[in-house]
Amino acid sequence: MFKLAALFVIFTFTECTYGATWVYSQGPYGPENWLNSYDACGTMSQSPIDIVHGATVADEKLGKFNRTTFTAIPDKMTLLNNGHALQVNLEGGYTVSDRNVLPGDYQAFQFHLHWAAVNQSRGSEHWIDGKQYFAELHIVHYNTKYASIGEALTQHEGLAVLGVFVAIGSETNENIDLLLNPIAQIQQYNQQMIYSSKFDIGRFLPEDLENYYRYSGSLTTPPCFESVVWTVFNEPIYISRAQAETLQTSLYARANSTDLVGGNYRLPQPLHDRKISRPGKSGASPLTSTILLHVTSMLVTAYALRF
Ligand SMILES: [Zn+2]
Repeated sequence: MFKLAALFVIFTFTECTYGATWVYSQGPYGPENWLNSYDACGTMSQSPIDIVHGATVADEKLGKFNRTTFTAIPDKMTLLNNGHALQVNLEGGYTVSDRNVLPGDYQAFQFHLHWAAVNQSRGSEHWIDGKQYFAELHIVHYNTKYASIGEALTQHEGLAVLGVFVAIGSETNENIDLLLNPIAQIQQYNQQMIYSSKFDIGRFLPEDLENYYRYSGSLTTPPCFESVVWTVFNEPIYISRAQAETLQTSLYARANSTDLVGGNYRLPQPLHDRKISRPGKSGASPLTSTILLHVTSMLVTAYALRF
């Protein structure tokens, strides 16, 4: 029963049967008008956001993610072109049960990518100090205290998403090839492929699992529910330019259309009065550290000048 409910939600979630159609391009169904069909898209704690590092607050209760959590291989993995993104649905995904990093037990149920359109270089959803990366990977988990993903989806802290920036480097990322090699099989809208050789999700995470940003936000696509505990890792992963181009040119967004999936990101939303935390000793904001550094160097100079 539970599995059936979970599957139902995964499919409704990805096939946007929640209501009206929505798209990333401007127009009546574009991001500016999502709130006309999906009320939550116009509320106060929306995602993504531009993270201003200098305004983040250190929280010593936040710990480092344990890499071994992510090495468990899911029971079933399905690669899917849902018309909005490249997505992998998981059954029997790993569970993060570590209160130092997340406020509950969260089980992974899908991951997907947002990326820049053809001939564009900016496609991440979150920005850091005004910088937008080429792409962003989202690993989506639900809080297992709820009976189903569908129930968790609408609850405060019902979901936890891990965001990983993807930048363009000089080398081929063999892990990303696990998503790109079979991409020709899901070129058309709604095509999917079940992996016969499954793999762990940990391979898509950066080396550094200690430095990240944490805030309360929303799904970045309709229905925009404000149920997400966001983790955005500081360190990006890298893919080659050729891999980036494969991603940009392989998937069709709709049936009988040559429109490609890409440019599939929402622009940063207002932070309002939300706080962005990061692991670290409380009280030492990066701004105070910088000021302290300047004051110290001024004192050292003043002291040196006396002699
Ligand atoms: Zn996403």
